[in-house]
Amino acid sequence: MKKLLFSPLLTKQTINCQLEKAVDINTLLTKIRKIDRKRQQALKRLGLVTVRDLLFYFPKRYNDFSTITSIKKLQLNEQATIRGQIKAINTSRTPRRRLVITEAVISDDSASLKIVWFNQPYIERSLPVGTCAVLHGKVESGYQAKWQLTNPVFERYKEDSVHTGRIVPVYAETAGLTSRWLRFVIKPLLSKVGEIKDWLPEEIIEKQGLISLAAAIKQIHFPDNTKSLCAARKRLSFDELFLIQLNSLQKKAVWQQNKSYAVKFDEPLVKKFVGQLPFILTKAQKIAAWEILQDLEKSEPMNRLLEGDVGSGKTVVAAISALQVVKAGYQVALMVPTEILAGQHFTGVSKLLQPFGVKVGLFTRSNIKTSINGTHISKSGMGKLIKAGKLDLVIGTHALIQDKVKFKKLALAIVDEQHRFGVEQRAKLKKIDQQPQTAPHLLSLTATPIPRTLALGLYGDLDLSIIGELPPGRQKIITKLVAPYNRDKAYNFIRQKVSDGRQVFVVCPLIEESDKLGVKSATEEYNKLSRQVFPELAIGLLHGRLPKEEKEQVMGEFVAGKLNILVSTSVIEVGIDVPNAIIMMIEGAERFGLAQLHQFRGRVGRGEQQSYCFLFTEAGGEKVQERLQAIVDCHDGFKLAEKDLEIRGPGEVYGLQQSGLPDLRMASLTDYGLIKQAKQAADKLLDKDPDLDENVLLRERIGQFEKVMHWE
Ligand code: ADP
Ligand code: MG
Repeated sequence: MKKLLFSPLLTKQTINCQLEKAVDINTLLTKIRKIDRKRQQALKRLGLVTVRDLLFYFPKRYNDFSTITSIKKLQLNEQATIRGQIKAINTSRTPRRRLVITEAVISDDSASLKIVWFNQPYIERSLPVGTCAVLHGKVESGYQAKWQLTNPVFERYKEDSVHTGRIVPVYAETAGLTSRWLRFVIKPLLSKVGEIKDWLPEEIIEKQGLISLAAAIKQIHFPDNTKSLCAARKRLSFDELFLIQLNSLQKKAVWQQNKSYAVKFDEPLVKKFVGQLPFILTKAQKIAAWEILQDLEKSEPMNRLLEGDVGSGKTVVAAISALQVVKAGYQVALMVPTEILAGQHFTGVSKLLQPFGVKVGLFTRSNIKTSINGTHISKSGMGKLIKAGKLDLVIGTHALIQDKVKFKKLALAIVDEQHRFGVEQRAKLKKIDQQPQTAPHLLSLTATPIPRTLALGLYGDLDLSIIGELPPGRQKIITKLVAPYNRDKAYNFIRQKVSDGRQVFVVCPLIEESDKLGVKSATEEYNKLSRQVFPELAIGLLHGRLPKEEKEQVMGEFVAGKLNILVSTSVIEVGIDVPNAIIMMIEGAERFGLAQLHQFRGRVGRGEQQSYCFLFTEAGGEKVQERLQAIVDCHDGFKLAEKDLEIRGPGEVYGLQQSGLPDLRMASLTDYGLIKQAKQAADKLLDKDPDLDENVLLRERIGQFEKVMHWE
């Protein structure tokens, strides 16, 4: 008898039972019985390790199966959910065997309806005749104008089902995990949400009218109704934005503990400089310069982002700031992402500042010289000049921060095309003054037009100046999407313009992952153009693998007009200024973001001549066409950036790693109202509790959050 009590079956059941009881939010998912090995690994690949992780794995969207419409009351062209019994179902292939069609008939108390699915033959097995099912889809007019549902989502119907008759969560179906399975696993685990402690102070929850974290998690997975889903979303979105704001405000506080050199505004000097420019500053340029000059007067370090569309004239604004700083007796560093751009700035900015006796240095990996006598000097020689304060302005690439350069008195650090730099690189620039407690005022320039709302939501620790207008008289660049069959026409057009003495850029995309520097794609394009299409023209090639001398030589030849066409990778995205180049031809345009395409386009239209931008694409998808059409129709970088955001989301647009953009799951970065509320709440809390000593949970949460945020 005793033996029977300990029968293997009984023992196993008892143990399992205890195991499930012992589950808490920190339990490893590998310890959960119903998660098999394969799925454990899939979860791990998604970074989900504990029960808590799984509870924070939010649905991507929902199917609202909560309102059932009777078949008789359906409206044509409307989305609806119906519930009924499958009366017939059959799968067949079209004669040419390209399509698999599953047709079914479903009936409820009111009527019957035809259902059609394409290429999903398994459905016949999932919904055999007699099953009760809930279907959701659009009512369409089908064969002989009879109404039908085409490709509806479906669930088998059970009373109190987790899958139907309610708002059903749909998860990202990656790594071989289906939504159906995730629901099955997550639903019972939701009984553990009570263990998740709320990190928001009671006061904020009340003031903002939020629901508790536990309730939000429960409702985000299995909402009782639309209203509670909204409440859950609001709570979780608020949390994300609030954490971002707390994080950046804390950063700002730390940053401002540094001291900077206070640079007094020298009005006569600035007036003189502005007066001798060959053009009149735009109003936006004046405002931006004024904002910067005011910041420079403080001993608290500036951290300002200067945004302006390609060609809006950011350089001269930076030059005004630099001049002011230099004439007050301090040094300035200007960091740029490419050697070509460094060279161009060295020439251009030196020329602007030369009348004022500013001594400028160029410091890149392979080109080191000064404006004092123009001859090349050694790295260590340059280091000494900088350290002794013999150079006023040093323009350089990453070399500037990689070589333990120390400035004597660095009051201003400018980063051009800031989005091209990583977080650490920018951070290093803050530390290159000799005095350990002294940080330079920081001015970042970007032509990636981040909409103000987004910038505010993300860079709470940055101040923002926007140059929202182009200098007057700029022509509109005629932009055309060229269909493949019109390629020859475009080539002829180019030939004609070249014979008039104009020059052409050709930009190639990276086609293969392995071709990181674009050597292959640019070289192929170069070969094609120089051998087959334009054998009579002088064509140059520029890509990331070329040695520096060669790059400079090619650029130099193009600038001097010795080359008709310059084929390059996206390295020309930034900076260079060749007014005689009037055609920008972009291959594989669909591979670039709108903001980037707009930047390319900004390379032409810098002179008097009418300029053109031709976009080539082999991809014919509707989405691609829509996206590219936007660049044809719109010439405003800010609007394009917003459009890009809308279509692709911030991660893709700005590149998460590069821009420091967080990968937000809930919040919309364009939800200005909520961003503002979060900012105010964060401000208020930090006033009371600057180190979050009284909000330890929140402090911990920021720590975790920061890991996924690549922050500045
Ligand atoms: P970006 O903002 O893209 O860096 P730049 O600073 O290179 O633009 O300026 C583009 C061109 O416009 C330069 O040739 C510059 O001299 C010229 N420029 C700048 N400001 C003005 C202005 N107010 N009026 C006319 N031309 C200007
Ligand atoms: Mg620029």
